[in-house]
Amino acid sequence: MTGAPIRDGGVVFSAGRIDAIGSPKDLRRAYPDSVIEDAGDSIVLPGLVNAHTHLELSQIRRGDRPIHLADWIEKTLLPQTARTGAVTPEAVREAVHAGVRQCIAFGVTSVGDISKQCMHSRPALRDGPLRAVSYGEIQAMAQRRGLFEERFAAAADTSCESDWLRVGVTPHAPYTVEPEGYARCLAFAKANDRPLATHLAETAEEATFLASHSGPFRHLWEAGVNAWDDAVPRFAGGPIRFARELGLLDYPTLLAHVNYCDDEELAILARGKASVVYCPRTHEFFGHPPHRWREMLGRGINVAIGTDSCASSPDLNLVDDLRLLHRLAAEMPPMQLWEMATTRAARAVGLPDVGVIRTGCGADFVAFACRSDDPLREILERDILPSGVWVGGRKLG
Ligand SMILES: [Zn+2]
Repeated sequence: MTGAPIRDGGVVFSAGRIDAIGSPKDLRRAYPDSVIEDAGDSIVLPGLVNAHTHLELSQIRRGDRPIHLADWIEKTLLPQTARTGAVTPEAVREAVHAGVRQCIAFGVTSVGDISKQCMHSRPALRDGPLRAVSYGEIQAMAQRRGLFEERFAAAADTSCESDWLRVGVTPHAPYTVEPEGYARCLAFAKANDRPLATHLAETAEEATFLASHSGPFRHLWEAGVNAWDDAVPRFAGGPIRFARELGLLDYPTLLAHVNYCDDEELAILARGKASVVYCPRTHEFFGHPPHRWREMLGRGINVAIGTDSCASSPDLNLVDDLRLLHRLAAEMPPMQLWEMATTRAARAVGLPDVGVIRTGCGADFVAFACRSDDPLREILERDILPSGVWVGGRKLG
């Protein structure tokens, strides 16, 4: 998504990569032996990139709107995870496969996947067909501080890496990982050039918890997890300054959500290298105040979109998240919205060869049958599914 659509265009690919782009006539002349696949009256876009999801939670249903994120964790996420046995290898594999099937059906060919059970999810992802950056998730705070080493070792394990799977790490959030844990993850990412992500400023109460160990997250640690310990370091200044102090903003860290951000914090983010991933339908589900994504884009911050998991989004249909943005911001040119699900999302997860139709890049495409002269807008204003999906040149749907 770096230029306007090419009318009557064609693309040649082999061995999973794009060889040439141009007019069908010129391409036929230059590549006379190629097999021709006609996408018909369609627009062919780069395969979409869902920059923030949790495939292992694809079997969980989100239920009614919660009063608060901590409430949702306590009453929806933790009980459903326990009830469905979602941590066994088979359950994780099944959930990941269900998530992958959804992604392909909705035209998503790459994901930034957060995985607490990465020792089970990575074997399910390493042979494709989806491209995944698997961020191994670490939660280790208070009385669970001692779990850090074991969880970090699992998160940083690259033994499943393949052409389809890249390993990254994610200290979960400022209310589940202490500064020392964040520092270890950042040092690992820097030393090994690895993708790094964290959930940040998802709720207003994150700042309260950091500063005074009070509010719903403290309640969750005491009543939901029963593992609180007063030795957790405090930080006054909110999660965005917390991230800056730790050095997370001097690295291309993926910051999931950033739903709460004042003017000064916006300026701090604009001076850093981190990307923000906004999850529109999940954001709406939790009833957060309007997200400042347009101002972020205007300040030069890389903003991508993601769905988050099926535990907070109706499904993994990333185009429906774009449709919501189109309704919220009708004045935004559709091209700029699509960039957030392609080039910007690829940049956020650190996959330079996807999200774009360019010679040498991965042959990942999604086609939508369109009838108007403004297909990028038409897809956002009609309830249509992809008419074709290709990953690495292989047609999957
Ligand atoms: Zn998430």
